Amino acid sequence: MKVVRTRRELHAELGQAARPIGFVPTMGALHDGHASLVRTAKTDTATTVVSIFVNPTQFGPLEDLAAYPRDETGDLALLEELDVEVVYLPAIEDVYPAGAATTVSVFGPLAETLEGAARPGHFDGVASVVAILLNLVRPQVAYFGQKDAQQVAVVKRMAIDLALPVEIRVCPTVRDDGGLALSSRNAYLSPADRAAALSLYRALTAGKTELRGSGDSARAEACMKAILDAADGVEPEYAVVVDAETFGPPHAGRATLLAVAARVGRARLIDNILFDPSATRK
Ligand code: AMP
Repeated sequence: MKVVRTRRELHAELGQAARPIGFVPTMGALHDGHASLVRTAKTDTATTVVSIFVNPTQFGPLEDLAAYPRDETGDLALLEELDVEVVYLPAIEDVYPAGAATTVSVFGPLAETLEGAARPGHFDGVASVVAILLNLVRPQVAYFGQKDAQQVAVVKRMAIDLALPVEIRVCPTVRDDGGLALSSRNAYLSPADRAAALSLYRALTAGKTELRGSGDSARAEACMKAILDAADGVEPEYAVVVDAETFGPPHAGRATLLAVAARVGRARLIDNILFDPSATRK
């Protein structure tokens, strides 16, 4: 495994690398959700590149950039175990050169609702850093988690609109035994917070059952909201049913996303599940 810290070293490494290249962008503090993306990339492609970069431009001024968990030693040990070929661990200046003055913005409900509304500027930061990283690594395939459903929808839109020569693959959300979606931010949770956080997945599964039964998205939203409202130590932000691709209103017969966000202790958590009415009952 080669660990490179500059774009120069990255290019030197990738010049000789076998194609196709699979790329997994991360912010580190790696867990089994990240590992599942890496394992998929390893299976699909000849060279797997993982980046670890806590991107400052996707954090708002009052968010947790300074506190965001970092564990370079543990991350490198995990990536070594997963047999990753190249890890790119850049400094901020390597990603954003002096004088950087360009932003990639995705418009419309896709980027402006839910996480876009709760975190102004967040998706500009995400789209910009992903565009830069894709240009630096030039992978044939890039891997993202369904856990951040709106993020991957924004990235897919950007890749189409900017004609980026990359395939975006989405990997399922990895959860712990209680159903809690793995997240680097779970490190902020106390044992009591963790128990409270299980209500997010409970709300999502109950909402899906309601949607499958009644087909009524307003009832499914009310059902999710009631479960989050009733959970001690949980401050719900949203509990919604949207079209899985556009994030606009859901349409009968199209893939639908149930999505929630809530504050639990020091953490702001998001989670979602898909409901595909055309799929067989699961
Ligand atoms: P992050 O380091 O949080 O920016 O995440 C890096 C990538 O891992 C993103 O594409 C996330 O969607 C994905 N990811 C994070 N948590 C999970 C999870 N529990 N299951 C699957 N993918 C995940």
